[in-house]
Amino acid sequence: MNIEQFPKAIRPYLIPEPKGEMVYRCLGCQQEMDANQLHYTCPDCGSVFLLYNKNHAELISLSGSHWRMLFDYRKMLNHQALKGIFRYYEFIAPVIPLDDIIYLGEGHTPLVKSNSRLKEMIGIEFYFKNDGLNPSASFKDRGMACALSYINHLARKNNSAKILAICASTGDTSASAALYASYLGDFIKSAVILPRGKVTPQQLSQPLGSGAKVLEIPGVFDDCMKVVESLAEKYQVALLNSKNSWRILGQESFAFEISQDFDYQVENKAVIVPIGNAGNITAIMSGFLKFFEAGIINSLPKIIGVQSEHADPVYHYYKEKSPDKRKFVPVTVRPSVAQAAMIGNPVSMPRVIELVNRYNQKARKEKVFVIQVTEQEIMDCMIIANRNGNIACTQGGESMAGLKKAVELGYVKQDEVGVLNSTAHIIKFASFQEMYFNNSFGSDFEVHPREDLKNAPKLIASSKIKKYPEQGHPLEGDEMKHFIKETATAIAKELKLDER
Ligand SMILES: *Cc1c(COP(=O)(O)O)cnc(C)c1O
Ligand SMILES: [Zn+2]
Repeated sequence: MNIEQFPKAIRPYLIPEPKGEMVYRCLGCQQEMDANQLHYTCPDCGSVFLLYNKNHAELISLSGSHWRMLFDYRKMLNHQALKGIFRYYEFIAPVIPLDDIIYLGEGHTPLVKSNSRLKEMIGIEFYFKNDGLNPSASFKDRGMACALSYINHLARKNNSAKILAICASTGDTSASAALYASYLGDFIKSAVILPRGKVTPQQLSQPLGSGAKVLEIPGVFDDCMKVVESLAEKYQVALLNSKNSWRILGQESFAFEISQDFDYQVENKAVIVPIGNAGNITAIMSGFLKFFEAGIINSLPKIIGVQSEHADPVYHYYKEKSPDKRKFVPVTVRPSVAQAAMIGNPVSMPRVIELVNRYNQKARKEKVFVIQVTEQEIMDCMIIANRNGNIACTQGGESMAGLKKAVELGYVKQDEVGVLNSTAHIIKFASFQEMYFNNSFGSDFEVHPREDLKNAPKLIASSKIKKYPEQGHPLEGDEMKHFIKETATAIAKELKLDER
């Protein structure tokens, strides 16, 4: 819609100017550092940061209804920089000029209501929010759009000649980083560090296709992360893991979208999210808190974090009900179908601890829960979800298994509505589906396919056909007619078709 067609009162706000000041705040010693350059961890105490907007008071001085109206009108605005996650510009990173923002189609992923079969199976109504429909097919694009926009801004401001962006990855961070870096092309190159054999073939093909330098090392993600941290400490590189707090800001858009998707009524919602490095659950809690503090939503939804029993350090931390006795202990991961979340020592744990506290305090009751599910439950749920019209990855299956358990445990009640983060597209995780259908999981996965859920292609080849068409050698005349008739007959028999 053309700008003149918007109501006069909203026009001055539609296309924002950069404003305010952002600071890194250390979660260990609370010190603040200005955000005019990239920092990852506190130079004094080594803890992680969250970014804060010093202009926050001004943002919340405007009414909730002002913001709701602005975001609803922005849906109709055709402005490249504001089409994606930056529809919520003022609540993400309002220091980045619109000209520096990179938009590759991220955000505003569909919210799909589960069909009645799934609803019956889980026990309550729920939706999948399909973040696999982002450009690199996972939610990581939300954070990357923000981080690379900021890096683009810094580079343009400082006339930087060359930047090397690096990350460790369970597959999707590297796909996303490589994609966004490739768009900026000339001055930014990306290098991604992957645990060999621990990302799927599709995830490996993505950074290769985007032209990134792909480095594999033996070990698991936690090992790669340590190497990358050491590189970022010693060398001139831009770290794109979620230690980079700009990524967290972008990922908050998931919470903003859910708010808007439900017309800002999130009272009875329970948002289910798989936890790996814990950047995503951090961002989702932070996002809802921001909207709540600004009066855009009037209550905080429940947040249910889910972990596989093969990689569950956050679950164990919160299993201890008395906060004084809680102690974070990293775990050694075992093979998990939720491979993108197969992390034993999540970098964002200090952020989780801080935000869970704040979230529960603001909500005035316990609203964040962490649940553990089995590998079997994850796989069964993914397959079942996709047999009912969804495009859930293994982590999406983990969300669904988590909701099922949350309902059983009474964390989520009958009159509540689940919103499941399906964090990536199933096609990235097709190899796990294949292992399920072929019953070829290694024993350490502890997954046994259900017979009724298996599927496999069947070759139709009738013994009555002497000659088949081949590439470059089509059949002709009677041979072709014979081939068609016999093959059609064999298929009709296989499908038990009635004649008409
Ligand atoms: C990264 C990732 C996760 C885990 O998210 P964290 O922010 O690391 O907790 C889950 N699912 C998919 C598909 C991912 O790529
Ligand atoms: Zn510190």
